Amino acid sequence: MTENAPDSAATDAPRVVIVGAGPSGFYAADQLINAGFEVDLLDALPTPFGLVRAGVAPDHPKIKAVTRVYEKTAKKDGFRFFGGVVLGRDVTRAELLERYHVVLYALGTSDDNRLGIPGEDRPGVHGATQFVGWYNGHPDAADHAYDLTTERAVVIGNGNVAIDVARMLVLHPDELTPTDTADHAIEVLAESQVKEVVLLGRRGPAQAAFTNPELRELADLQRAGVDVDVGDLELDAHSARWLEEEADITARKNVEILRDYAAAGPKDASHKIVLRFLRSPVEILGEGEHGPVTGVRVVRNEIQPTEGGGLRAVATGDEEVIEAGLVLRSIGYRGKPVDDVPFDERRGLIRNTGGRVCAESGDAHHGEYVVGWIKRGPSGVIGTNKKDAADTVARILEDRDAGTLNAPTAPDPDDIAAFYAERAPDSVTWAGWEAIDAHEKTSGEPHGRPRIKLVRLADLIERSRATSNH
Ligand code: NAP
Repeated sequence: MTENAPDSAATDAPRVVIVGAGPSGFYAADQLINAGFEVDLLDALPTPFGLVRAGVAPDHPKIKAVTRVYEKTAKKDGFRFFGGVVLGRDVTRAELLERYHVVLYALGTSDDNRLGIPGEDRPGVHGATQFVGWYNGHPDAADHAYDLTTERAVVIGNGNVAIDVARMLVLHPDELTPTDTADHAIEVLAESQVKEVVLLGRRGPAQAAFTNPELRELADLQRAGVDVDVGDLELDAHSARWLEEEADITARKNVEILRDYAAAGPKDASHKIVLRFLRSPVEILGEGEHGPVTGVRVVRNEIQPTEGGGLRAVATGDEEVIEAGLVLRSIGYRGKPVDDVPFDERRGLIRNTGGRVCAESGDAHHGEYVVGWIKRGPSGVIGTNKKDAADTVARILEDRDAGTLNAPTAPDPDDIAAFYAERAPDSVTWAGWEAIDAHEKTSGEPHGRPRIKLVRLADLIERSRATSNH
């Protein structure tokens, strides 16, 4: 690996390792450095920025520009990056606790929720997580294959990820090629036969989880219109009351935007995104027992109040079939257990109270903390993680002041760098990432693209070694 330079040789500052270099990891790193800690930031990939690089849709470059904030953090004294070091494979939780006063998990939630219905494993049914990783050039998804020879795709779920994947499926090549979409995905999407994407919400338009700009921007797609059935927008009494008395501004605006789409009628366009509400998939249909998907059997729902004061979808028994050759499941993410870090299986999160990792009894583990989606679940936008990180950092500072942080036995920073180099010989430092970054940007420049991503681990590692100063 290339050196992390300059090292922070033996100061008295407490030392923290943050596992996961996405937004929540970077916000926490910045706040902890400002509070006098020295930070080692690990990531399983050779590249930093988590979902900003591998999740945010490539046609949203302004959102991706948040990495400039993280780059400033990386320039601060006391910051080191070790990319390509995997907790649970290269290092254990116990080994981190031997070396740091604080171990902070910022692992994100990398699995997608499953529907639990028959036919879900048929060819042509995919989790949005994998599809998003594929078009964003995540090395683990680079070899995935998507058959886009079908005219209709169904996306299950009514969140922003569902809207992202629906939009990516209908972008005109002229909208796609100036982005940093992985080359392998640009090739396949350019040949796509998909003309219609049906977005399926189990509840009504008032309960859709889209945010307003994401819903509104569908109007600007070059070759795709938005199709909303006026009948679907007639709110039931429960939703109408809720929207009037309890809903936030986002839900109210969503309904207005949807009504505008319905009033405008279908746009003269070759492609369309069809928004359908109050329908749950009950079976993925296909050829034979295990053959490729041919459609989705859905049941119509109605909205009913729950005892807790919420509104839920209840099946009416009316069913219909939507024919489709591709189904993407986009119904939220969940975390994966890692090493022996306490995990709440039911919620798919690291078990914690307010950011302090804890045992089932609720007793806090000294020196172990958690931030971001693996702490609170996959919710909010990127900026939400700044406040989330601040909440956990406040707990860390309280524990530092109370003298209850972890007491490491081997905290020497140079020894720690040597330890990572031995365990993960291909690991990448910040200078290594800068070499990758410069190469990707230079490759993109002649094509008017922000970057052309390297998508193979071997290529990323090789490029990281081409640093001028090492
Ligand atoms: P999400 O916003 O939580 O949406 C999940 C959707 O799946 C909801 O519509 C939910 O419906 C539905 N769902 C859950 N279980 C279902 C089931 N069994 N059958 C049918 N539908 C089901 O999650 P997400 O879209 O994965 O997004 C995660 C977070 O990232 C969100 O906070 C999102 O705003 C954020 N994000 C932001 C952007 C952006 O700002 N541009 C882009 C992407 C993601 P119910 O409401 O009925 O449960």
